[in-house]
Amino acid sequence: MSNPLTITANTKFLGIMGYPVAHSLSPTMHNAAFINSGLDWVYLTFAVSPGQLVDALRGLKALGMIGANVTIPHKEEAALHVDELSPEAKLIGAVNVLGVKEGRLIGHNTDGIGFLQSLQQNAQFTVKGSKVLILGAGGAARAIALTLASFGAAQIGIANRTWQRGMDLAQVVKHSTGVEARGLNLEPMDLEPWVKEADLIVQASSVGMHPESEELKWFNPQWLSAQTLVCDLIYNPSPTRFLKLASARGCRTLDGLGMLLYQGAQGFTWWTGLEAPVGVMQQALLEGRAAIQNY
Ligand code: NAP
Repeated sequence: MSNPLTITANTKFLGIMGYPVAHSLSPTMHNAAFINSGLDWVYLTFAVSPGQLVDALRGLKALGMIGANVTIPHKEEAALHVDELSPEAKLIGAVNVLGVKEGRLIGHNTDGIGFLQSLQQNAQFTVKGSKVLILGAGGAARAIALTLASFGAAQIGIANRTWQRGMDLAQVVKHSTGVEARGLNLEPMDLEPWVKEADLIVQASSVGMHPESEELKWFNPQWLSAQTLVCDLIYNPSPTRFLKLASARGCRTLDGLGMLLYQGAQGFTWWTGLEAPVGVMQQALLEGRAAIQNY
């Protein structure tokens, strides 16, 4: 078994490109997986500032890297600068995994499928026929809306601070998948029935990330019913204030660690062709989060 700290001329390297990115748990998770799988690979962190992505992507190929992850704020821009997009990345219009295959830079997206797997594995939730309310309309919301629609959700409501962005995402979902999707006004008349009737609510805005300072002021937790599964994509802190409110209403809750795990496991398999050591990756994430929590 190789140690990622024993770096030789043969060691292959990957990493995560984002800005800021120092908080990422992906290096912890992937390095644990590489060691466990006996790969002489190492995973690093690259702070790629806005405006530097295209150079970084060129460098990735030129330096002979296996691939990389892409995170905030580069996911959508990366999709415009690869040689080829996987069907998932094409549908979502964003890339969170890159791979160099036969000299071509391929963009892939595992965020949506990672979230779906976390719903199935950690909450035994059935997407088919479900009514889903998504709070937020950024990159993560987009991946989740399109993936849940593709996997059989019956209705999707999207409520976002910038209303037009939620409307636009609903149009994309409807147009690409045929699923009934609506952008919602942030008014009780529009939101209340969706919160009351949703089988699944996904908090996909960045509100509540450590250090917590803001709230979704337009969301009234009193509308929640105990049958609803409530998810927050944030994994630090865990639980978020949003999930605490949902638990207090008797709802089942799910944080974002499962999504991080399964998007990573899918990426691992895509790069290596090997089955991902999910248990090892999960343990690394739990330890990594405990080390940074409340920093
Ligand atoms: P993004 O593209 O920057 O989108 C941010 C979203 O948050 C937008 O909908 C934005 O609304 C909303 N927002 C930001 N500040 C707000 C405020 N003060 N009040 C109301 N809404 C606000 O980010 P993203 O990539 O979608 O990520 C969103 C969250 O998901 C982040 O917390 C991220 O860490 C998390 N995430 C987790 C995973 C995981 O694996 N667990 C993966 C991806 C993302 P506007 O459109 O109005 O700006």
